[in-house]
Amino acid sequence: MAAPWADVLRNEPAIQEAASVAVDAALLEGVLMRTAGEPNASDVVNYAPFTLLPSAVPSALFEQAYAVQQDFNLLVDAISQNKEFLEHTLASTIKVDDFTARLFRIHMQVMEEGLAQSVFLGINRSDYMFDCGVDGTPALKQIEINTIAASFGGLTSRTAAVHGRVLKVLGKSKEASHLLPNNPSKGLALGIAKAWELYGSQSAVVMFLVEEIQRNIFDQRCVENELWNRNIRVIRKRFRDVFEKGSLDDAKRLYMDGQEVAVVYYREGYVPTNYDQQNWEARLLLERSRAVKCPDIATQLAGTKKVQQELSRPGTLERLLPGRAEAVARIRATFAGLYSLDMGEEGDKIAATAIADPDRFVLKPQREGGGNNLYGEELRQVLEKIRDSPERTSYILMDKIKPQPAMNYLLRAHSPLQVSECISELGIFGVYVRQGKEMVMNEAAGHLLRTKAIEHADGGVAAGVAVLDTPYLV
Ligand code: ADP
Ligand code: MG
Repeated sequence: MAAPWADVLRNEPAIQEAASVAVDAALLEGVLMRTAGEPNASDVVNYAPFTLLPSAVPSALFEQAYAVQQDFNLLVDAISQNKEFLEHTLASTIKVDDFTARLFRIHMQVMEEGLAQSVFLGINRSDYMFDCGVDGTPALKQIEINTIAASFGGLTSRTAAVHGRVLKVLGKSKEASHLLPNNPSKGLALGIAKAWELYGSQSAVVMFLVEEIQRNIFDQRCVENELWNRNIRVIRKRFRDVFEKGSLDDAKRLYMDGQEVAVVYYREGYVPTNYDQQNWEARLLLERSRAVKCPDIATQLAGTKKVQQELSRPGTLERLLPGRAEAVARIRATFAGLYSLDMGEEGDKIAATAIADPDRFVLKPQREGGGNNLYGEELRQVLEKIRDSPERTSYILMDKIKPQPAMNYLLRAHSPLQVSECISELGIFGVYVRQGKEMVMNEAAGHLLRTKAIEHADGGVAAGVAVLDTPYLV
């Protein structure tokens, strides 16, 4: 990939000046995060980490990622409605993974009772890296699709302005004018607003289900503001609040403190540590309600790594999206090699291959949020230990994607300014709304580019590894 800023990268005085401008611009634009020391107060805030320079992204791959997003929306929605597929696909996983099993049990219970919810809202983010083939041609390869609590749609709406300023300071006004506008928070809010409207109660509110520790609140506030601007009331509650004050009426309408809730937007609930017994009960209450859950529990399950791996089996996409051969081809083109570790010959064989050549693979448990995957020597050791035990079915194997690194500066509060070799991950936000059987909205809502130093195999912005970036199309 071309390195568009090679001429300024080593010009230290220019970089120093640009970095101090960049940090102030980030604060002015609202690229903000609360601090680790005071995660639940806004008295002292800081800028969210970001790259000094926008990173080069091949425009053909960028367009390809946008073009496949509506297909992915349809796919996730189809999986969420396919009880047999979820049951069959997750059967081995739920035997060994307690978290997935608990989610699955709630799903089954809600299905048996009969769904009270008739409007469905999906907000997802499909993440990709640019795999560098043997001939050096980059290809778009999906890392995963996040179907719950996909974050940074808010803050990323504000990074293009920051990078535009940096480029101007560095004497690159023409390049600055080529940065694309991007506003996922608006697209996300339009989906939430549509679901709220179809729910059909003017006085009902939208509830953001938020974490106990709320460092990333400004990202969420961006979406929240868009809703207030449309005169839709937003409340922020934790599982604990739902346990204490949530209730259902005879028609399974959800009430919080006497206020009817039309839409529950989860920014929490995707990792085991989000739950104690009370929180599980709160989750069940929400899922049983008629409120539009974003996502409902079936859609959360559709985003598991096990489902991702099963999708790559020949014939699966065709069965899930009948009559949509072009969508299937677009989706499949983004898949890297994915392999089941279920007990049996197929799993034995791939386990042996990965133990012999660990650098070709990533070993992934059924977890979200970054920092869980295993690579290299660690992958080999773990897989060797569990290769003959059913425990291995709680993981999947994936081909390791190898992007071409580029030099950049990662700006973090209290960190020295130094150049790093970096790789980037592109996410596209998808939003859809379905009423009964009818899709009433299906959109790509914007993008997120995150960049990290190559020495970190895993982890996102919230995990403190990747930083926010802006694509510069080449
Ligand atoms: P999580 O749900 O924890 O975010 P991901 O599948 O997104 O799990 O993996 C976390 C990070 O690990 C990604 O952001 C990416 O940097 C890295 N990663 C994941 N899969 C691969 C892969 N196949 N090849 C290279 N890096 C990967
Ligand atoms: Mg991820």
